Amino acid sequence: MTEKILSRRFDLKDSHTLKVYEENGGYIALRKALKEMSPAQILDEVKRSNLRGRGGAGFPAGMKWSFLPKDTDKPVYLCVNADESEPGTFKDRFIMERDPHLLIEGIIITCYTIRSSQAFIYIRGEYLSQARLLEQAIQDAYAAKYLGKNILGSGFDLDLILYIGAGAYICGEETAMLESLEGKKGYPRLKPPFPAVIGLYNCPTIINNVETIANVPAIVERGGDWYAGLGPPKNGGTRLFAVSGHVKRPGCYEHPLGYPLKKLLYEDAGGILDDLPLKAVVPGGSSVPVLKADEIDINLDFDSVQAAGSMLGSAAIIVMHERTCMVKATERIINFYKEESCGQCSPCREGTGWLLKIIQRILRGEGVMEDIDLLYDVSEGILGNTICPLGDAVAMPVMSYVTKFRDEFEYFIAHKKSKIETMVS
Ligand code: SF4
Repeated sequence: MTEKILSRRFDLKDSHTLKVYEENGGYIALRKALKEMSPAQILDEVKRSNLRGRGGAGFPAGMKWSFLPKDTDKPVYLCVNADESEPGTFKDRFIMERDPHLLIEGIIITCYTIRSSQAFIYIRGEYLSQARLLEQAIQDAYAAKYLGKNILGSGFDLDLILYIGAGAYICGEETAMLESLEGKKGYPRLKPPFPAVIGLYNCPTIINNVETIANVPAIVERGGDWYAGLGPPKNGGTRLFAVSGHVKRPGCYEHPLGYPLKKLLYEDAGGILDDLPLKAVVPGGSSVPVLKADEIDINLDFDSVQAAGSMLGSAAIIVMHERTCMVKATERIINFYKEESCGQCSPCREGTGWLLKIIQRILRGEGVMEDIDLLYDVSEGILGNTICPLGDAVAMPVMSYVTKFRDEFEYFIAHKKSKIETMVS
């Protein structure tokens, strides 16, 4: 039985309220942090925990925090990325609507550790009901003196502001989020400098994902070594795996990193819809390379998924059964990223447009066999040549779909229709 860290209160009645949070172990870690631990001790525990960023990149959280300049006279900010927009990803939404105080407690402890007295949560515009719940939770935390001046008599002050974005995918990119928070267009910045040195309002800034921060109270309460021991080496703790697509029980499942993908699909998620054969699995949100059915005998941790040629990313598992047309699936992905490109750099702005024209030509029955290699070549031209990772986010999946399901593209071009239509009819 998996030990639950993030989802342990999810199914309690009124789990989003301060009362239920406090009755079920809430804010105990904060008291311990403020009364018994120094910021350096907490940083050490987070480093030992092997907590890696849950937004996608998997960068070690403790190491990121230690990049802050030591003797700055500028304010230090914490920005929590709640712009969860990667298709297939809905785990942060669960935390914010079912246990918002877990996030708030994690924010307070993190700010105490990095010596910040001002934090922001940047939430996507479409998450309006979650934003309302969070706003209420923040007000309740202020009223209970968990936020504001002299928190729990410790002398530590913290203000927390909830900022609602306008619904642009690109604002989930950390530097675009900073631009947006500053009131500008959400254009990603060139890095370096990295936000830990020059971030919000040119001040040192730590940016972490919601799920990353929500793990901090458990690490403080039970120690970094305990947390690290839950997963394989360099992959501490548990993850919320968001399973969607062609499974019988889609949902959000918490397990330690390293949990077997097959077990997640066939036991937790109940198996493939209509008991059809599996065709493909996207293991980390729409921007990562797809895995074929015979490639899913892997464990879900950052290193194992990478060794299998994909990425764990946001741990959003998208499942496709045999009746999925991979040509149409590729068009969906290209269309999304083309729409969401900010247009700032030409490989992404022009490349996504070219990809869309080519794939739509194929879907109209006007494609030629050379178009398959052209999709790959255009993607290769985008990969690694853009300001932010959105370019890679379209290039990597397209290259994998074209390579792994080339027969479906060839069939579509030769017969001017999907192979799946033939199967179903
Ligand atoms: Fe904008 Fe795309 Fe360039 Fe990112 S890669 S900065 S989204 S144009």
